[in-house]
Amino acid sequence: MTELALSGALATPTIGDALPRLSLIGLDRDQLGAALRPLGVPERQLRMRASQLWGWLYVRGATDFAVMTDIAKELRAELGRAFTLARPEIVSEQVSEDGTRKWLLRLPDGREIETVYIPEEDRGTLCISSQVGCTLTCTFCHTGTQKLVRNLTTGEIVGQIMLARDRVGDWPDGIAPDPRGLPVSDRKITNVVLMGMGEPLYNFDSVRDACAIVSDGEGLSISKRRITLSTSGVVPEIPRWGEEAGTMLAISLHAVRDALRNELVPINKKWPVKDLLAACRAYPGLSNAKRITFEYVMLKGVNDSIADAKALVKLLAKIPAKINLIPFNPWPGAPYECSDWEQIEKFAEVVNRAGYASPVRSPRGRDIMAACGQLKSASVKQRASERLSPSI
Ligand code: SAH
Ligand code: SF4
Repeated sequence: MTELALSGALATPTIGDALPRLSLIGLDRDQLGAALRPLGVPERQLRMRASQLWGWLYVRGATDFAVMTDIAKELRAELGRAFTLARPEIVSEQVSEDGTRKWLLRLPDGREIETVYIPEEDRGTLCISSQVGCTLTCTFCHTGTQKLVRNLTTGEIVGQIMLARDRVGDWPDGIAPDPRGLPVSDRKITNVVLMGMGEPLYNFDSVRDACAIVSDGEGLSISKRRITLSTSGVVPEIPRWGEEAGTMLAISLHAVRDALRNELVPINKKWPVKDLLAACRAYPGLSNAKRITFEYVMLKGVNDSIADAKALVKLLAKIPAKINLIPFNPWPGAPYECSDWEQIEKFAEVVNRAGYASPVRSPRGRDIMAACGQLKSASVKQRASERLSPSI
């Protein structure tokens, strides 16, 4: 197996084995071929076997080598000894009244991330993480306060989608254990957004390789038009992302003036609004049919004045854009409050009048706190209180 293949995989410790077995999730066709070679598969069969495996992994969602009936029994056994089909481990799964799901997931090294699924009638959006924590320190974001940071592997990124498809029954023979609130459409996960934990452009290669697997038409088959990468504004990586991955783009703008954006999104000190918008204007493929989404979190008395709203539409006037107003999700100790609903409506009216349709992202899954960083903090607190409670 090559270095490359190893870096994409999830390792699962196995009882009795000296070495942990690696999950094949996250490997592309070439890497699957490289994984098969040491198992004695003849060179001339490698491509065919790799493509069979690919189909079982990404078209059928197999979780057990035993179901791979077109692969010889001996090879299946070999595969089972060397590899797993493991997804990240579920620490907790919460299902909201409205069908929103939130998973806290544990990675092989014990680190935890979260993934959120938001169903609507005719579509389902999966929000995935790209890092454990985040090196950036946006002042309104709970992820930015977490100390431990590492990049997710390609396997850990693809694994979030595989796991979500397991849980919402989004495979050809899939059954959702809890069907509440799922879309009526054939496919349950139609869109993927990189809006969970982490700054995806600081994990460029793994996120790009994961997007290539996810968008492959003979696999998970979620087209690049339905994958959105959200960035806080890593300007030099934006054109490269457009060329190498070409997904839809969202920008965490949150402020129209550099002085305020420096405070809210500190990466702005390095790449100010002007440079960010120049990179947006030059984004490959940008058109009215392929707009950039600008995210704007509504912070009471900070960035929510009518003057801010007017400045926002003026700033974006010449860019094919969508605007998403996001009600601030408070977290314990957060230095902000969410804007009053009345103020959000007034702000939205200015934005609407400038020609942007229904820009407020309605809060979903409030009863399970499906907001950035909240589930993780809740679970940490719970464990702390478990530790504190006297043992019987
Ligand atoms: N790091 C990337 C992607 C992850 S954050 C980025 O910053 O774009 C995804 C979105 O959630 C961003 O727009 C971010 O600004 C927003 N967000 C973070 N914390 C939030 C909070 N407490 N309330 C509302 N939105 C928040
Ligand atoms: Fe990181 Fe995005 Fe949170 Fe900023 S908003 S700290 S970039 S995850």
